[in-house]
Amino acid sequence: MSSILLRGGLVVGPQSSAVADVLVVDGRIAQVAAQVAAPEGCDVIDASGCWVGPGFVDLHTHLREPGREEAETIESGALAGAIGGYTALTAMPNTEPALDNVALVSYVLDRGARTPLDVAVAGAITQGRRGESLAPLAEMAELGVRLFSDDGTGVQDPSLMRRALTYARPLGVRLAQHCEDELLAAGGSMNEGAVSGRLGLLGRPALAEELMVQRDIELVALTGGSLHFMHLSTSRSLDLVHDAQRGGLPVSFEVAPHHFTLDETCCEQFDPIFKVHPPLRPRADVDALREALRNGTIDAVATDHAPHAPELKDLPFDEAPAGMLGLEYAASLTFEALGDAPSPQRFFSVLSREPARIAQLRHEDARVRHGGHGGAVIEGEDANLVVFDPEANWTARNEDLHSHAVNSPYDGRALRGRVRTTIAKGVLVVSDGVLV
Ligand SMILES: [Zn+2]
Repeated sequence: MSSILLRGGLVVGPQSSAVADVLVVDGRIAQVAAQVAAPEGCDVIDASGCWVGPGFVDLHTHLREPGREEAETIESGALAGAIGGYTALTAMPNTEPALDNVALVSYVLDRGARTPLDVAVAGAITQGRRGESLAPLAEMAELGVRLFSDDGTGVQDPSLMRRALTYARPLGVRLAQHCEDELLAAGGSMNEGAVSGRLGLLGRPALAEELMVQRDIELVALTGGSLHFMHLSTSRSLDLVHDAQRGGLPVSFEVAPHHFTLDETCCEQFDPIFKVHPPLRPRADVDALREALRNGTIDAVATDHAPHAPELKDLPFDEAPAGMLGLEYAASLTFEALGDAPSPQRFFSVLSREPARIAQLRHEDARVRHGGHGGAVIEGEDANLVVFDPEANWTARNEDLHSHAVNSPYDGRALRGRVRTTIAKGVLVVSDGVLV
């Protein structure tokens, strides 16, 4: 029998919080009470002053395996995730080859099962992510895939997207769209605007994102299929999706930490570390995303963790691949963006509860392969837990990263709030900020 006792933390529930001890025995939460006696041989962890809640769930992780293992592997990505407080990741399908069939999805699920975390897979919507014909969604759904995406690009053809939504509906799965109209964004390497004009770089207009958001809202209304909008980056995109949600459409969305932390002026030094799709936006959009986080109108924070081998990010700005690391700092950046009096409920809502609901990784979803995530910290739940210290002040250092890649834009940045402990699948994976 293995047991872990989290002593004296603020246990954060969906509605309220209370200081309590949490005892984990054999992979499940065995007891939550004011005073719990430690069984013999128990790992006792002092969580006083910390928040204790369900482990984070990432809806958007590029694990790069198979095909680009020099940038990341399923194993290294899972360890980076654990450091970041994640207990479940969703592997994106833009690997080489793309995760568009049962054999490849099974491969990633099997490799994922050997890591300390639960690794779910987002299957490709179209064969080879080429946007031409549908991938075998039903067969992949049989394996437990609940999210499908061509991420890296969006499905450009509206009739194909309509068919995918129609097809997905009876399967009970959700599509996830990378919203950028490729014709409008073509050749652009940063946000289109005064800054790109000054730098002489071709821009990707906000409209490229917003047009596809608008199109897909119409397609959802037409088909009744469920859609998740990935990494929305503009104030107007949020307005469009909020309107659709108020109208009762089955749509959800995520924002990424870089879009609510960094703005387009970061690109002024031509450092490709700041190149990402959709691009970093003007300050007004960054502020709108932060405001939405604070007022509770963001569904989920997702990392869009996108490792790249160093030589690729050494290319000139317009030739370098887009994307940056995200797993290890997402929680601290979210905490910071929540403002001076961050709500622990909101923090766990955007990092854990809602992403778990969107990915169908909650207990009640009765998944064969993955345990319960994003649930309440109560007796009987699977022990996927995180201890977050809201008082910690620390500095991001590239040399401390656990990813194979080091394309983080935050090297040397002061951070507030830190993941202390991660318990995944009932096992103590991270203790006092380091891998056990
Ligand atoms: Zn994307």
